[in-house]
Amino acid sequence: MDICAIARPEIVAMKAYESARNTAAADGILLNANEAPFPLVDEPDWQRLELNRYPSPRPAELVSRLAGIYGVSKSNVLITRGSDEGIDLLTRVFCRAGQDSIVECPPCFAMYRIAASIQGAKLVSVPRQAEQGYSIDISELERVLDSCPDVKLVFLTTPNNPTGDLVDRPDLERVLKACENKALLVLDEAYIEFCSAKSACELIGKWPQLVVLRTLSKAWAAAGLRCGTVIADPVVIDLLQRVIAPYPLPAMVIDAALRATSHQSDVRKRQLVASVEKYRNELLTFIGQFDWVKEVWAGESNFVLMRVSAATELTRWCAQQGIRIRDFSSQPLLEGCVRLTIGSSDEMSKLKSALAAFGDANE
Ligand SMILES: *Cc1c(COP(=O)(O)O)cnc(C)c1O
Repeated sequence: MDICAIARPEIVAMKAYESARNTAAADGILLNANEAPFPLVDEPDWQRLELNRYPSPRPAELVSRLAGIYGVSKSNVLITRGSDEGIDLLTRVFCRAGQDSIVECPPCFAMYRIAASIQGAKLVSVPRQAEQGYSIDISELERVLDSCPDVKLVFLTTPNNPTGDLVDRPDLERVLKACENKALLVLDEAYIEFCSAKSACELIGKWPQLVVLRTLSKAWAAAGLRCGTVIADPVVIDLLQRVIAPYPLPAMVIDAALRATSHQSDVRKRQLVASVEKYRNELLTFIGQFDWVKEVWAGESNFVLMRVSAATELTRWCAQQGIRIRDFSSQPLLEGCVRLTIGSSDEMSKLKSALAAFGDANE
């Protein structure tokens, strides 16, 4: 499949900006980037990280670390400021304003649609089948890909936010086939570490139309770093690299991301994932006793979606106890739904007390 044939022609034709750090080595006497020769702050971190210098545009150690964690080659990896930036770059590189479209399967993450609006790309919506556990309408997706030649990106999420369901391998492969020579399938795996299913990263070499998004924001407990990874064919990575800012990652973030993904953090991540599962199961059992909880989608992530008889009142009630939950009740297909993130043991106890008291007050 020729990826350049579906990208924006102006991006395919352009030459990437040649920065001082990507056209010359970063050692020796550096007089090629108009930087100061030393930092003015005397703190050890400023000296150690050489904060007077531009950071590496493609920090080698972090690229290797993340490629290793995700089980792909370094040439398959682009590190971005959160997955949000990956979504934005893909939309800008593959969609011509006013002409091309993205496909989303709502209810889903809102950023796909927002990136499309910003770029002026059209939005094709293939709603999930609410009556069947919010499963994706694969036949409709195939039909859309077959009949709309301007579709360039299909965004799928596994596990999905906020419905928690997974895209299974056979469905994924059906959509990948339907994308052949037409579009990229962007599979957002922000929550994959929380579930038992395997990542689709292992399929990257086999399907050039597959793009996987990973992030340090969820199971790696480092949302503050803004560190996401686009995993794709090297041709896709090269095109995205032309559009990303010349020095996307601050030196302090590169340093912190290496610590956030150390062996020790990996051990702690496993503990976090195990505790999230335990607290999620406890919460599911707990909410099972309330008759005002009408429906529950347990999912395999660090959140639970539930339909209740008074979503807005419940959200307000929790807020009065200082607990913020997410009210989705005004969104299509999510009438009466709220999403609860699984927090710490202490936070879960407080949430349960608030839910019990809400039940008593509404009896
Ligand atoms: C939280 C989340 C992300 C993560 O975004 P970052 O920009 O990496 O923090 C991506 N996709 C989905 C579906 C999410 O819910």
